[in-house]
Amino acid sequence: MVNNIVSLNKEKVFRDPVHNYVYVKYQFILDLINTTEFQRLRRIKQLGTTSFTFHGAEHSRFSHSLGVYEIARRISERFTRSYATKATGDGLWNPAEEPVALAAALLHDVGHGAYSHTFEHIFHTNHEQITQEIITSPTTEVNQVLTQVAPDFPAKVASVINKTYPNKQVVAMISSQLDADRMDYLLRDAYYTGVKYGTFDLNRILEVMRPIEDGIGFEMNGMHAVEDYVMSRFQMYQQVYFHPVSRSMEVILDRLLLRAQEIFAKQTETTPDTPYLLLPFLNHEFNLADYLQLDDGVLNTYFIHWKQHGDSDLSDLAHRFIDRKPLKSVKFDDNTQDLLPKLRGLVEQSGFNPRYYTATDNSFDMPYDAEKPNEKQIQLINPDGSLQGLADVSPIVRAIADRFSGDNRFFFPREILQSSANVDLFQPEYDEFNHYIKNNQLIHPKE
Ligand code: ZN
Repeated sequence: MVNNIVSLNKEKVFRDPVHNYVYVKYQFILDLINTTEFQRLRRIKQLGTTSFTFHGAEHSRFSHSLGVYEIARRISERFTRSYATKATGDGLWNPAEEPVALAAALLHDVGHGAYSHTFEHIFHTNHEQITQEIITSPTTEVNQVLTQVAPDFPAKVASVINKTYPNKQVVAMISSQLDADRMDYLLRDAYYTGVKYGTFDLNRILEVMRPIEDGIGFEMNGMHAVEDYVMSRFQMYQQVYFHPVSRSMEVILDRLLLRAQEIFAKQTETTPDTPYLLLPFLNHEFNLADYLQLDDGVLNTYFIHWKQHGDSDLSDLAHRFIDRKPLKSVKFDDNTQDLLPKLRGLVEQSGFNPRYYTATDNSFDMPYDAEKPNEKQIQLINPDGSLQGLADVSPIVRAIADRFSGDNRFFFPREILQSSANVDLFQPEYDEFNHYIKNNQLIHPKE
């Protein structure tokens, strides 16, 4: 293979609040950062609607991507210094893998779009597929930079992202239970939200990390640092990622896009309020260039226009999203879910279309899933070289492994719990609705 890897005359650094500095020594990495597709990530917030709850969380996919690159760079540097391979098949690190690992780390989220998860839900896009397309399509600047390294380089980088790359150490570096991606987003999201429990000792983890035969392992004496990482992930899910207000704003966004699709996909003629940049998605005929034109600002601009739209559901949902008017929510479980049709009926009687103003959502996620078929346990390395799964050794991790940590919620307009100008009109519905809710929980009231 002819690799065209050129080092910069002088190392380039990017100042970063989480890692202090991000170091770039290769020309092609700098060129990738300067592509139009990568610069677009500056205009997409890493945490979407979470900033409605934690106002500091305005950081972008751009800064996260640089952070993942920097962690991968440090891992590769350390592996090269301490664990470089001496003979094929010795299970150690091959320093020649560094360029592909760094490129994959930098580009792993390049296909993310504005408000990714909700957008994907309504318009059936897939950011992982689009990431690979940006890397392999000859139409992108990213692909042109990668092709200059070697003609087969784009395909290699894409195969790291879809986990088919033959070197499992490179794949584990970018996507596994303890990888550069998760370590960066936990530290970065904790920093920008301002919470104090998302932190863990990154330096210590990097110090005990080692290449193993089919991936990456951690020396046994670093177990406590690894436990701390698992706990921090658990806490961040509980306290930040699953926050009911952020989820409620996500529900509003979902219904806003749904209503927009119902209205604009039917229109045969364009009008001044036609959302031109969204049309390819409303009609399910989009290409890569259409996708790359979208960002948070484009969507927010349409939402601001829609606040004045003649359709009262569309304009009201746009107002609720732009002006942060979250829905209320209550927890429900197997014992109380039979009440949901009743509550939806009351919402409808109060003048709200339940299609747009009610939702159920569950946030279940495993903080550390020892059994997920395609995700291996974190491997600890004993002094004699034998391996043990983290959950088999750590009582703390075992205690939270496989435990459901989320909840089921029912969302509804908060107006139905508050007296308002409409109170005379809907008083019976308010009274009945409140009857079922106590301390933020859905209950069966005593008759
Ligand atoms: Zn990521």
